[in-house]
Amino acid sequence: MDAKDLFARTREDGVKFIALQFTDVTGSVKSLDIPVEQLPGALENGVWFDGSSVEGFARIQESDMHLRVDMDTYAVLPWTPADLRRARLFCDIYTPDGQPFPGDPRGALKRMIAKVEARGWTYNVGPEPEFFLFKRNGSDTIHPVPFDVGGYFDFSPNDDAVRVRSELMDTLNNMGLEIEVGHHEVALGQHEIDFRFAEALRTADNVLTLKYTVKAIAAQHGLVASFMPKPIFGINGSGMHCHQSLFDANGQNLFFDPTDAFNLSPLAYGFISGQLAHARALSAVVAPSVNSYKRLVPGYEAPVYVGWAQTNRSALIRIPRFTKGLDKAVRAELRCPDPSCNPYLAFAAMLGAALDGIDQGLTPPAPLQNVNVYHLTAEERAELGVRELPASLREALQELERDSVLREALGETVFEAFFRAKWEEWDQYRIHVMDWEVQRYLEVA
Ligand code: GLU
Ligand code: MG
Ligand code: MG
Repeated sequence: MDAKDLFARTREDGVKFIALQFTDVTGSVKSLDIPVEQLPGALENGVWFDGSSVEGFARIQESDMHLRVDMDTYAVLPWTPADLRRARLFCDIYTPDGQPFPGDPRGALKRMIAKVEARGWTYNVGPEPEFFLFKRNGSDTIHPVPFDVGGYFDFSPNDDAVRVRSELMDTLNNMGLEIEVGHHEVALGQHEIDFRFAEALRTADNVLTLKYTVKAIAAQHGLVASFMPKPIFGINGSGMHCHQSLFDANGQNLFFDPTDAFNLSPLAYGFISGQLAHARALSAVVAPSVNSYKRLVPGYEAPVYVGWAQTNRSALIRIPRFTKGLDKAVRAELRCPDPSCNPYLAFAAMLGAALDGIDQGLTPPAPLQNVNVYHLTAEERAELGVRELPASLREALQELERDSVLREALGETVFEAFFRAKWEEWDQYRIHVMDWEVQRYLEVA
């Protein structure tokens, strides 16, 4: 689509405003709104903005930032009122001297993608974002309650949540995500909507689209949608498993090898080995909240140990069973990411880890077939060489700090900003006094 076509599209769609969007290092979406009449100028010259108050951008001498519009990311925001219709475009961030801004998360992913493109490969990601729909409890936002009564794959014809989910799927389809399936997840009030895998940059854009669309449509129904990894103690949390593969320039899946027991090629094994080798540091980027580590505990279908297997849901990387004829579907499912991550940084780090495994020619340890790792003793795990994922954001950040491969994948500017923001988050948490502590200690101490 060229600038003229795009402007014509906005006219056809009755668009009045354009939201020019990008993210900070934590993944929160920032938006600069312009009247649609300004769009041709913005497409031609970009748009200047003051980046000094954006998380991770703050450097006095770099406060002037330049947005360049990615025209392929046009989508109307269907929940905006018809007389004030808005569309959005994702943007890349540049410095005043015309260089890609090294602190731009989308730019960090583009840099990593350029490395695989130089090898003639495409990095595909298909995520499975899970979320909760909550009702507000009274007039305050405190302690929302689950919205519906369904469980895993339940069909309940009168379930309000199903109506909301259908509307979500329809809206997301109209916004260009190819929705494949929506279903109830295990927990009360928990849902999952999956869209078709695509090249990593497009998928990262799609994850952001899905998150804010789900929140906007839920709000129209008086509900609160949450992608918090573990909103309620004692029941399943929300993950964002990522199915990944590498294709060649002809669209052939480079992970597929019909002669292998798991139908995986040596390249796929290198990829998996790299992600396993860097898993502990990778967690800091793909599961980047204090709360993420309350999800990564035994008993709730979330991974805890670093290992791989075919069907074993306790494994960190799962290889879905191969269906004959579906070569393209051979893939590795990484299960530790959760939807609180910045998808650009998550995919950049995942790719950096994988490429390191490929380049070093690593081979994975024995698969965890027919073992429930949760039931192994510490000694048995040590014998199998199975390590644990970090138990806290602090532990994960310390691993990341030591991991030069992942630091390079993010770029030093992003790494520093990310580390600073997340360490501060950890520190805030560390000094706060929780309900749990009061209940546990107040009277007995
Ligand atoms: N909710 C689980 C998690 O936190 C995943 C459930 C599933 O396998 O889809 O990862
Ligand atoms: Mg799921
Ligand atoms: Mg899954």
